[in-house]
Amino acid sequence: MNICIVGTGYVGLVAAACLAEMGNDVVCIDVNPDIIDNLKAGNIHIFEPGLEPLVARNVEEGRLRFSTDLAEGMDEALFVFSCVGTPSNPDGSCDLSYVDEVATQIGRLISDYKIIINKSTVPVGTADRVNEIIQSQVKQRGVTVEFDVVSNPEFLKEGDAVNDFLKPDRVIVGTDNVRTAKLLETLYAPFARSRDKMIVMGIRSAEMTKYAANCMLATKISFMNEVANICETVGADVREVRAGIGSDRRIGYHFIYPGVGYGGSCFPKDVRALIDTAKAYGCTPSLVEAVDAVNNRQKGMLAEKIKKHFQEKGGVEGKTIALWGLAFKANTDDMRESAALDVIQSLTDAGMTVKAYDPVAGGNARKILQDNASVTVMDNQYDPVDGADALAVVTDWNQFRNPDFNRIKKMLKEPVIFDGRNLFSRSFMKDMGFSYISIGRQPVL
Ligand code: NAD
Repeated sequence: MNICIVGTGYVGLVAAACLAEMGNDVVCIDVNPDIIDNLKAGNIHIFEPGLEPLVARNVEEGRLRFSTDLAEGMDEALFVFSCVGTPSNPDGSCDLSYVDEVATQIGRLISDYKIIINKSTVPVGTADRVNEIIQSQVKQRGVTVEFDVVSNPEFLKEGDAVNDFLKPDRVIVGTDNVRTAKLLETLYAPFARSRDKMIVMGIRSAEMTKYAANCMLATKISFMNEVANICETVGADVREVRAGIGSDRRIGYHFIYPGVGYGGSCFPKDVRALIDTAKAYGCTPSLVEAVDAVNNRQKGMLAEKIKKHFQEKGGVEGKTIALWGLAFKANTDDMRESAALDVIQSLTDAGMTVKAYDPVAGGNARKILQDNASVTVMDNQYDPVDGADALAVVTDWNQFRNPDFNRIKKMLKEPVIFDGRNLFSRSFMKDMGFSYISIGRQPVL
């Protein structure tokens, strides 16, 4: 099948490579010529485990191409996927300008039947909006062309995106057109071989499903962060509480880890967008608003603990914190709405210096933090620790889980570790002679 993917980011490039892997002919389009030039030269602009060999193989076998020219991409395609970004507007609503632009361009170019697939996360009603934009462009051109707009939200996770796309838990297709649903079933058959993985529903339900899924996951995280904060105050240990509640199969162990608050390119903006949509339709999304508020508070929590510790020891001014982990989670280079940025801002606003390290997000972090003279991003895990007043762990990369504690102890001015991900055992920290402050557990002092 011939496929055009518009927007070659985390979702678009992964979808393109996986669809090409199944034997389809895929053309990837992006407005950013640097991204396309790099991809043509064999350089992938994002970090995603397993993606590089998949892209390389499919390029070599002629099933995957890259271009900045949408006309070239649409020429032979039956399926046109829109995978552009849908960031937050300043008021929290979803910025649909990239989606609108793609729809406008499609409307200007479309000349035969195509299925336009919204893969971006978009508010309920966006498929209708895309339909209208394309119709109006087609009308202006004075031509008659048939097309269908389908909602097919994506559920991949950064860091495991290739696996998620190849072996999805489910494929959601929102369409009222039986023939279109059948064509999408054929397209997705290699990924969703078990029939019940393919869930066909109304377009609005499909759009809503993506927000409901992300907000449910965000709710679990905020709930657990709230529990953690209560644990800390009442003398309980959230690690023990998690084990206790997770053993109930109705609750389960997944997604109930407390930490520094959720970040990334999806949960924060999708929670805000659902609040905005609900309010626009006259609903009161009290729970989702609370999830957002708890998360905003949680993002400040680790920095507050660090500042409180040093205030009690005589002052925060001039202290240096070694910070491990800049990406919003492990296994990605994505810095969008990463809690590390909140921690750094709060510490440097208070007059502290931050020396940071991340296994893959260092390059992105340097660009974002270039105007903050109090931050240095280093290339080696132990360089920031040398001579620092404390170590703070913000992202749960595997290589931070069992570091050389003797080396850390020798390098730090004071043996203090602030752990925003509860990676270490309290008793082990105590035995090693560290002061250890984590989330939802009693400090080791
Ligand atoms: P991204 O920012 O990584 O990629 C978007 C790409 O679209 C960019 O490369 C940009 O240059 C390109 N673009 C913008 N306008 C364009 C145009 N007119 N024509 C061609 N290309 C254009 O975004 P992403 O993280 O891949 O997310 C895309 C969508 O998928 C968002 O709606 C997001 O919410 C959703 N989503 C993301 C994830 C994730 O983990 N990143 C998971 C599921 C769903």
